[in-house]
Amino acid sequence: MNVPHRAILVFLDGVGIGADDAAFNAFAAASLPRLQTLLGGRRLVAEEMDADGRIVAERAVLAAADATLGVEGLPQSGTGQTTLLTGRNGAAEYGRHFGPWVPTPLRPMLAAENLLQRAVDAGRTAAFANAYPLSGAPADPRIFRRPAGPMLAAQSAGALTRGAMELAEGRAVASSITNERWRETLGSDIPQVTPEEAARTLARIAAGADVTLFAHYDTDYTGHRGALNGAIAALERVDAFLGALADALPADTLLVVSSDHGNVEDVRGGHTLNPVPVLALGAGHERFADAASLMHVTPMILDALGIARAG
Ligand SMILES: [Zn+2]
Repeated sequence: MNVPHRAILVFLDGVGIGADDAAFNAFAAASLPRLQTLLGGRRLVAEEMDADGRIVAERAVLAAADATLGVEGLPQSGTGQTTLLTGRNGAAEYGRHFGPWVPTPLRPMLAAENLLQRAVDAGRTAAFANAYPLSGAPADPRIFRRPAGPMLAAQSAGALTRGAMELAEGRAVASSITNERWRETLGSDIPQVTPEEAARTLARIAAGADVTLFAHYDTDYTGHRGALNGAIAALERVDAFLGALADALPADTLLVVSSDHGNVEDVRGGHTLNPVPVLALGAGHERFADAASLMHVTPMILDALGIARAG
């Protein structure tokens, strides 16, 4: 059965497809057995892609999607996330790449046309799995003044509903996956979880909605820090998380993993011009082999779910 009833989009900030060189590419240096198995034994580096920029494996497909969007300069998170989450070219509409937050002029378009809002407009349900410090404890005002794309999308769709209580009860996932940033930054006593436990929580959340979004940012942070060992550790955590999520994925659910721009695949100097991966598995995943641009991801997910563009 190739028609998915539900979809999960896992957004990983700052993940591109780079050269197979373990001196600077964390994907070449790390041990990522779960991802490698999903990709039929291949690794997520440029040299392991087919000539047409794809990997078509038994359970999954991987496409290399352009993140430069025909706009000069290095891709950035605000415009890249807007593009990924809407299918519209955020960089062209804003006039340049911009980040890390979503520029104010793009926010109404992102609010109206993002994946979660489109699902709600079609009478379907949307979930944002991330926990945010919504009330009580020291909420960081920058989160709301300089918002990331996934949070704005969730807010517009009425899906920004998970906070500390939900995280403690296993009904939300921390953006860091394993809760340690809540412990370190917010002084929270929420227990640490394993990447596998976090993945099972995400699968449970996704079972209760038609479209679920989860956003993870450490891949970009570690790329900016420029230390290969930190980037390797971040990818190994993502590998365990995605492997467990693939194991927990129901047969009627589509899982798509993508990014906004490259970074962690070359830790020598911030963002890159590399294409970003579009990894898809589960029901209806085959079509994502044709995802050649960040602009294709959200329209393909909506199309797979039978949600047509309005108007
Ligand atoms: Zn960045």
